[in-house]
Amino acid sequence: MAIWRPAWLGEATAAAVDLLLPPHCVQCGMAIEATANHQSFCSSCCDELLHFPAATCRRCAAPVSPALPLMDDCSHCRGEKFAFTRVVALGAYEGSLQHAVLRIKHSSGEPLGVALAQALARRLAAAAPFPADAAVPVPSPWLRRCTHPFNPPDLLAEVLADQLHLAYLPDALKHRRWPRRQHTLPSSERRTNMRGAFRVRSGFDLQGARLLVVDDVLTTGATAHAAAVALKKAGAAEVCVAVLARGVGL
Ligand SMILES: [Zn+2]
Ligand SMILES: [Zn+2]
Repeated sequence: MAIWRPAWLGEATAAAVDLLLPPHCVQCGMAIEATANHQSFCSSCCDELLHFPAATCRRCAAPVSPALPLMDDCSHCRGEKFAFTRVVALGAYEGSLQHAVLRIKHSSGEPLGVALAQALARRLAAAAPFPADAAVPVPSPWLRRCTHPFNPPDLLAEVLADQLHLAYLPDALKHRRWPRRQHTLPSSERRTNMRGAFRVRSGFDLQGARLLVVDDVLTTGATAHAAAVALKKAGAAEVCVAVLARGVGL
């Protein structure tokens, strides 16, 4: 698990830095034993944070019973008309992963966000077939950006693009209007709230593109769906979704 460093920092320099400043777990701050592969998490946090559900729905990433046959939908997404094809999540929105997702909403959580995005990149790489040409973060409304300039999906998408060799399109999506905060609404109103919420900025040629929409959490799927609708209207051939955590029943 390599720690993300600027490209100009060579391997020898990185090793020297680690010798002088031994790496610490980005989640709990415990010193990590030096290894050949620089670890971002201590073994305890690694077990807690990167504990993948035994089986997940290929379409919406909700945890499902491993006893069920592998299917392309589940009780959480059956009947939903999503404009995206599938979702990959690092894990369920609960416990340590939930706390970590809340921490990365602040710029001080950036090292943790980078480490989680690297873990998500490995999960995506293992989730074949997962074709994508570019990573597109879900934007925050412009007024929120004035008060909260750090948008976690931007960081996650940038790291995913770097790790998976995708183009990074941070400005492709734009809010058309100011939606109400999704988590303040009952799930029945979230899709209505997000309908038509995004558009693609002029100047982006997405004709035939396979895109990866990136967000921190997916619950009802309404936000990712609205993003996928806008991207497909602009010509995208396929949209998949990557999130750190899948929330069910929230
Ligand atoms: Zn730790
Ligand atoms: Zn599902």
